Parts: sequence; C-alpha cells; structure tokens
Amino acid sequence: MTARKRWSATQRARFFHDNHETCHLCGGRINAEVEGWDLSHEIPLELGGADDATNIRVAHRKCHRKHTAEVDVPTIAEAKRRELRNLGIKATPSRKIQSAGFQKAQPQRRASKPLDKPRLPPRQLYVER
Ligand SMILES: [Zn+2]
Repeated sequence: MTARKRWSATQRARFFHDNHETCHLCGGRINAEVEGWDLSHEIPLELGGADDATNIRVAHRKCHRKHTAEVDVPTIAEAKRRELRNLGIKATPSRKIQSAGFQKAQPQRRASKPLDKPRLPPRQLYVER
C-alpha cells in the first residue's frame, strides 16, 4: 500500500460536505449517523492519483470496499504486470506447472522382438529340377 496522508476530523468533515454527503460510487446519499463512510481516492494512489482534495471523494464504506476489491485491486495488479512486461521482466511462476503426463505408449517393434502378425512361409531361393 502506498503511503497516504492522515486527514484530521475537520478535514474529513470538510470533504464530507464538499462532496454533498454523496457516495461517489453509487451516487446515494450517505447518512453518517447510521452508515460507515470512508474517504476514497477516485484514482487510486498506486495508479498515480493525487493524495489531495482534487482526488478525494467520500463513499459508503460498503461501496468503497466492494469497489476496492472488485475494480481497484485487479486494475492495479494489471498495471504492475504491464509495467514489468514493458521492462522485459517475466513473472516467475511460484511453482513448476505439472501436467497429467502422457499415457505409456506401446513399445515400438524391435529387431529382437518377433512380429505378431502371421508371416508367409519362407520362399525357396533355389529350386532343384
Ligand atoms: Zn455508495
């Protein structure tokens, strides 16, 4: 997690009123007496968002948590993967991928192993007349 500012109670109250007491994620009004609410970065800090009033909104705590888990975390992970790929760094798998393997094949015919199919009787090379 990126280092972030701690906002005082006065600053939190100002953000709450400046954002019209409205959740920026669902658009619903926040009833602070009964619902938890958070300061939320509209553009996540890890994606380069500013840690100031231009980027801070208020959100219901449940909306904020859902949005963080379902949108921000995957987006940040994808951004990190892209950055590594652009630097030419390949992600190393945490363990070797195990396949189910192949079924053991029938052994190939070898000179030492007789044929199974019936053979013609040997032909005589020289016939006495
Ligand atoms: Zn909401």
